[in-house]
Amino acid sequence: MTKRIFKSIILASVIVLLASGGLTIGVLYNHFGNQLEEELRTEAEFLSIAVEDEGMNAFDSIPSEAERITYIDTDGTVLFDNRSDAADMENHMDREEIQEAMEEGSGMAVRESDTLSRRTLYYAVRLSDGTVLRVSSVQYNLTGLLGGMIQPLLIILILALVLAGVLASRLAKQIVNPLNGLDLDHPEENQTYEEVAPLLSRINRQQKSLQAEITEAKRQQEEFSMITDNMEEGFLVIDSHTEVLSYNSSALRLLGAKDKDARQSVLALNRSENFQKTVEKVLSGQHVISYQEFQGITCQVAANPVFQDEKVTGAVILILDVTEKMKGEQMRREFTANVSHELKTPLTSISGFAEIISDGFVKPEDTKKFAGRIFKEAQRLIVLVNDVIKISQLDEGKLPYEKESVDLYEMVREIFVRMEDHAKAEGVHCYLYGPHIKADTVKTILDEIIYNLCDNGIKYNKKGGSLTVTISQDGERPVITVEDTGIGVSEEDQKRIFERFYRVDKSHSKAIGGTGLGLSIVKHGAMFLGADIKVESTLGEGSKFILTLPE
Ligand code: ADP
Repeated sequence: MTKRIFKSIILASVIVLLASGGLTIGVLYNHFGNQLEEELRTEAEFLSIAVEDEGMNAFDSIPSEAERITYIDTDGTVLFDNRSDAADMENHMDREEIQEAMEEGSGMAVRESDTLSRRTLYYAVRLSDGTVLRVSSVQYNLTGLLGGMIQPLLIILILALVLAGVLASRLAKQIVNPLNGLDLDHPEENQTYEEVAPLLSRINRQQKSLQAEITEAKRQQEEFSMITDNMEEGFLVIDSHTEVLSYNSSALRLLGAKDKDARQSVLALNRSENFQKTVEKVLSGQHVISYQEFQGITCQVAANPVFQDEKVTGAVILILDVTEKMKGEQMRREFTANVSHELKTPLTSISGFAEIISDGFVKPEDTKKFAGRIFKEAQRLIVLVNDVIKISQLDEGKLPYEKESVDLYEMVREIFVRMEDHAKAEGVHCYLYGPHIKADTVKTILDEIIYNLCDNGIKYNKKGGSLTVTISQDGERPVITVEDTGIGVSEEDQKRIFERFYRVDKSHSKAIGGTGLGLSIVKHGAMFLGADIKVESTLGEGSKFILTLPE
């Protein structure tokens, strides 16, 4: 802008300079021309008086370097000329000024010289005897005058231009500086040219509406980030060149990417072939749903293309961690297979014994024995089916969930009564210690848990061993500890005994009527109640199961 103002000022100065120079020269030229004419006229008048008085003698005192004076006879013959010899001069009758003077008393003429840079002014006056006195003077014409003055004129022009340059530069800065110093953050606070005030107030209005839009966009962005960042699911929006436009932290976590650089391709977040193929497919316009494994996490990747005017402009990718779901499904499949297998064994025995009896292969005295075996297998089936039902109910969360205040000591005492025969049969002594702590819990489930733990404590005990249940408190949390002096569980097996159908010693467990579901019911029951279950055990010495209920 400074440059443009500078150039404009210089251009204006040059135009003004040339125009004013030209006009001045024109006016001066005209003025001097008129003055010269006047001088010639006065000189001719004076001289004519002298010639009238003295005749030719009047010319004696005229120096040759004075204005040219020519005296012409009535027939045009030159009688005198102070610059040339009159005898050599041609007849002047044809000269315009002479003719005019002869006819009208005086005459004036201007003739350009050969060189074109000068012109000669002639003024002629008729004397009383009809002779004509002519005075002439040479003057520079306009071209001549300009030619003669070109050097000083150029110097003046250059000086004027330099001066104009300096002034223009200062002026341009003076004009532009306040504009450069405008505080556009607070447009209305500027006190510069009133001409820019409307512009500033418009900027102010636009700035305000822009600010409002930015604030709204930021708010929406923050809202969006808050929602997406709190999502467990990974969320990505990419453009058609695979560049990530939007993402949440879950997406980075699930894809195993540490951080994301600006304008990064989604392909750099996970380099697995499956993921690359998904991106390729979705950007070709296909909806993709696939299961992929990212660093041990099973994910469902759902990718949807985004179309605009039937062209794919990007894609939205949703990544769900389905590890637990998959594990659950796997567990359910295994559970079904295990249940079928466990049911098959007693059923095959029952069917076998019944077939032998019906075929009449069993002696009447052995019938009782066979019926007893069938009864035992049927009992096993009932226990197994009951356990499966309990596990399923816990799995589905379909159990009646009614909490009540339970006296833990009383509840264990009742369990001991129910187990009395079993304990006696196994030769195990049962002990109960602790205060009458009350817990707000679901009694049926807690009963089932403690019953299973006590049942195991008797089953996996030694003859003459003991089972001790202690009621205590860990802070506000009620604790029930079931401890036995039985066979114990190795550290390796401790990790697995809560799994469904896991039994340390299959044949022994089966022989004593175990289903492999007891501790699984304990674990699920504890989860249902919000309690923690822990095992401490030493092989050959005994086990301790600690159940800590919630406050
Ligand atoms: P089961 O019906 O076979 O007893 P559980 O789920 O109750 O099934 O127990 C799983 C396995 O854990 C048992 O087969 C047994 O090997 C082991 N176990 C459970 N409780 C004890 C205990 N108190 N002492 C030693 N081993 C135990």
